[in-house]
Amino acid sequence: MTHNSELAKSARLFTRAQACIPGGVNSPVRAFRGVGGNPVFFASGDGAWITDVDGNRYIDYVGAWGPLILGHSHPRVKAALHSQLDLGTAFGAPTELEVLLAERICQLMPAIESVRLVNSGTEATMSAIRLARGFTGREKIVKFEGCYHGHVDSLLVKAGSGALTMGTPDSSGIPAETARQTFVLPYNDADALEKLFSESGNDIAAVIIEPVAGNMNCVPPLPGYLQLVREITEKYGALLIFDEVMTGFRVALGGAQQLFNIKPDLTTLGKVIGGGLPVGAFGGRKAIMDMLSPVGPVYQAGTLSGNPLAVTAGMVVLDEISKPGFFESLTRTATTLLQGLQSLADNSGIEFTTTQVGGMFGCYFSKFKNISTFEQVMQSNVSLFKPYFHSMLAEGIYLAPSAFEAGFVSSAHGSKEIDLTLSAAEKSFAVLKKNHQ
Ligand SMILES: *Cc1c(COP(=O)(O)O)cnc(C)c1O
Repeated sequence: MTHNSELAKSARLFTRAQACIPGGVNSPVRAFRGVGGNPVFFASGDGAWITDVDGNRYIDYVGAWGPLILGHSHPRVKAALHSQLDLGTAFGAPTELEVLLAERICQLMPAIESVRLVNSGTEATMSAIRLARGFTGREKIVKFEGCYHGHVDSLLVKAGSGALTMGTPDSSGIPAETARQTFVLPYNDADALEKLFSESGNDIAAVIIEPVAGNMNCVPPLPGYLQLVREITEKYGALLIFDEVMTGFRVALGGAQQLFNIKPDLTTLGKVIGGGLPVGAFGGRKAIMDMLSPVGPVYQAGTLSGNPLAVTAGMVVLDEISKPGFFESLTRTATTLLQGLQSLADNSGIEFTTTQVGGMFGCYFSKFKNISTFEQVMQSNVSLFKPYFHSMLAEGIYLAPSAFEAGFVSSAHGSKEIDLTLSAAEKSFAVLKKNHQ
């Protein structure tokens, strides 16, 4: 590995960035605050590898926080983008490409009968919530502690991801009146869900849930839990919104709804469907989607929505991941990695647990063998995660800089990358053992 651990250019860029960008970053999770050290500034990516501005190479397990399921600079994505570039980058008018992508999404996720494209996951969840309120004529929303649905006012209540990492799960700047419209429940807690619905079920417009929680590390749903959420929302006439911005086209070709065999009323998408370009989408039952402007009274719009470049990248990605065996292979890669890490940790006598759903995974320095609640996640040993993160970084392994984020493998991660990662982890665990236990 050509790794020199020098981050001089990144450090200089970060100083300049802090002078003109709040915190030096355009999204808080990039800042490494609370972990120590500088964020790494990247210059290029190729397959499973990324290269920083100082010339260090890393194996990437962040994948731009989920989108890069084919790895960086995939040849087919690049070629399609080059061709589209010659034809134009935006028209603010309908294109054939949008129809192709919408048809493909509806085909891969049968619960989606009609879909609208937007530019980010946040836009998708924000619009889905408005639509659910417009459709039901109700105002209350239910979300789960530690789940993140983008930086939508009503959803930044006990939120995960960067909001959790930075210690601001309840953002300031949100009117108390707005926050009061959101009920927050513990994830995977059937009793709490039943109790809330028995008290307030008829006021609830929608339940929004990450079917696999991926913004408080990676917490799979307990058996039967999503079925219960489906049954209870149906019983009370509330809509069920699966936020599949992370899990869609990531945990299985048809997303978590295929994996767990649940039909949500609405689904939000993002990340993978943009192939690394800004795309989001929300869709579901036609009767609900037809409430949207221009057919219905719920307004929603976007200058660059359905952008030709972004849609082109998305189409290629959906094509590639639809090939037979894609998800079996992706899942195998993640399993090999996690089994390797587990046995290294066991050999070092370090308390360590992993979770996995398809190509998405979680690693915890934790005494719990099965992680299913927010509380268990919070009890994991963050003081071991921090030195682990930095030690892995120095070994050329780029992990998410937070103990509360899921990790991702791409189809470009092969046995060479897994082997290199495991030898880096062996060294890192040894250092942890020596210095911290
Ligand atoms: C990333 C994410 C979002 C927000 O998407 P952005 O594109 O960052 O706005 C929403 N929901 C979930 C589950 C996510 O993981």
